[in-house]
Amino acid sequence: MPTAKRPSKKRAPVDFLVGGVNSPVRNFRAVNDAPIIVKRAAGPWLFDDRNRRYVDFIMGWGALLLGHNPPVVVEGLLEALKRGELFGLTHANESRLARSIVNWVPSVEQVRFTVSGSEACMTAVRLARAYTGRSTVLAFDGCYHGHGDSLMIGSAGVPANWASSLVRAPLNNLKEVERLVLQHAADLACVIVEPVAANIGVIPPSRGFLEALRTLTRKVGALLVFDEVVTGFRLGNGSAQKVYGTAADLTTLGKVIGGGLPIGAVGGPRGIMERLSPCGDVYHGGTFAGHPLSMAAGVAALEELQKNPPYDRLRALADQLSDGIKTQAEKAGVAVQVNCVGSMLTVFFTEKPVVDAASARATSRKRFAHWTRALRAAGILIPPSPFEALFLSAAHSEKHVAQFLEASARAFRGLRRVAA
Ligand code: PMP
Repeated sequence: MPTAKRPSKKRAPVDFLVGGVNSPVRNFRAVNDAPIIVKRAAGPWLFDDRNRRYVDFIMGWGALLLGHNPPVVVEGLLEALKRGELFGLTHANESRLARSIVNWVPSVEQVRFTVSGSEACMTAVRLARAYTGRSTVLAFDGCYHGHGDSLMIGSAGVPANWASSLVRAPLNNLKEVERLVLQHAADLACVIVEPVAANIGVIPPSRGFLEALRTLTRKVGALLVFDEVVTGFRLGNGSAQKVYGTAADLTTLGKVIGGGLPIGAVGGPRGIMERLSPCGDVYHGGTFAGHPLSMAAGVAALEELQKNPPYDRLRALADQLSDGIKTQAEKAGVAVQVNCVGSMLTVFFTEKPVVDAASARATSRKRFAHWTRALRAAGILIPPSPFEALFLSAAHSEKHVAQFLEASARAFRGLRRVAA
């Protein structure tokens, strides 16, 4: 047994955290930069421990569609806190939030709240397996569905036989998907997909891709699960399912529906959802599921989104940013592809269109890192990885986009000399 070492008091506080973080991408290693220690945030800004101010385009990895601490959410939270921080029993805001989701996502009749998006996806897959009586799951290379064992590839510690029930297909490659679905038809419980991929950078579905998944899954009696943890309530009223006109059997949500607090949800038709305990035989529970503070923040956020939908304005801002970056890149003689869907986008340093994980991985990480570091030095903070989405929020305005583009113009200078 190794003996426990007494930590030295001289070590930096983050030294007591594994890798200095609680989620890997926060360490900025992918862009060869130092991590940021945040002191506070407000509206579109983050302030670090040296009081440097950044316009934030990480926005809680997409959770903060209204920006940092919007007054409506803060008020909702303070009110909720006065009523009690945890009940451990059902309360009114749970059904208020569930009703908003049911109203916004046509394929959802009932909702079960979880504490994270990972847990929502784990629960959706468990439900799909129980409902179909099958075990194989087909997911897409580059999509992320949280860190549950049955959806995790590329991590040590997942038993090989678990990983073998997860089949991976390339995004936007219908021929290959069809082949794999038919090959595994007899044991296929579900196909799970991010309708717009956001975890290998933003990759939209090719025309007809989601409809084809719908047809194929129906044909073999498997469920179609849309992981809308990122896209849910970000792409507009009704989420990706309405935008792309394809309904899922099960939908997972998270991020935006919690107004910045920890949350996840799985939803679908009553006939499937009622397989969950206590109605059915599929277990899910949690001390913090339906947490009063998360529910209050979510109710406030979704009410605000309904009252003052920011979607058209954000789409226009994102287009402005995307067009500006493309023009700058062209001027600088640096090849980029900007994949932009609604209020999220990724800048890929490559000449070729990015349509799947392979084309995303073939982009220049060096140029991305160089550009990202230069943006940060100019007070613009974007996700420190070439495989993440940059998020706009209702707290951003044309002024912040102009600030971004000013910093970016400088960041592009000299980039041609950085090897692709
Ligand atoms: N699904 C998707 C599409 C995600 O982007 C994420 C998180 N980035 C998750 C699931 C997992 O959510 P959480 O981090 O809340 O566990």
